[in-house]
Amino acid sequence: MLFWFIKEGEGGLLYTLPGGVDLVTEPPELKQSREGRMSKVALIVTDMVNDFLDPRGALYVGPAGRSIIPFVVDKIEETRAAGGVVIFVCDAHAPDDREFAHFKPHAVQGSWGSQIIPEISRLPGDYREDKTRYSALHKTGLVDILRREGVSHTDLVGVCTSICIMFTAVNLLDLEFPCRVYREGVADFDLEAHLFALKHMRMLGVEVI
Ligand SMILES: [Zn+2]
Repeated sequence: MLFWFIKEGEGGLLYTLPGGVDLVTEPPELKQSREGRMSKVALIVTDMVNDFLDPRGALYVGPAGRSIIPFVVDKIEETRAAGGVVIFVCDAHAPDDREFAHFKPHAVQGSWGSQIIPEISRLPGDYREDKTRYSALHKTGLVDILRREGVSHTDLVGVCTSICIMFTAVNLLDLEFPCRVYREGVADFDLEAHLFALKHMRMLGVEVI
């Protein structure tokens, strides 16, 4: 004869069999919400700000940067329509940031250069996280947003492929967030660096499509 001891377990019912074997069942509503979360995507839009994308900007990426704007705009709309999260990560440096030893001063916090380009509209519900380093995960709230929103997959677009895109993508993988980069949605100052970065990211486990 088989006896079942039933008690409330975390997230479901715990059945303890006489032999000490536990079986856990998950309530349907919890299973559904977990599965729903499993497919939630965050589109991380990187450095689509005036100083990189406007020809008057301090570190203008060039025509390659401008050429990705329509794709990025479409991808943002597509992500919102599919119930995903749109997160803008934007350089916002202090006027004396040490990064300016390597690059011309750019995207100073509060300046025109750090504003998202006018071709892209930020809607209520979108996020903006300011960053000061190449990886958008360094001292930002990005990971908290991803976890709070139940994001399971990340898509990356923006600039520059070999700098902020690549270092953010690899950091996301390190934190177990699968990451996809769209060739048509990323650009760089340097074509050779762009092509190397796409190849290198793919080798490291980023889905490059
Ligand atoms: Zn910067």
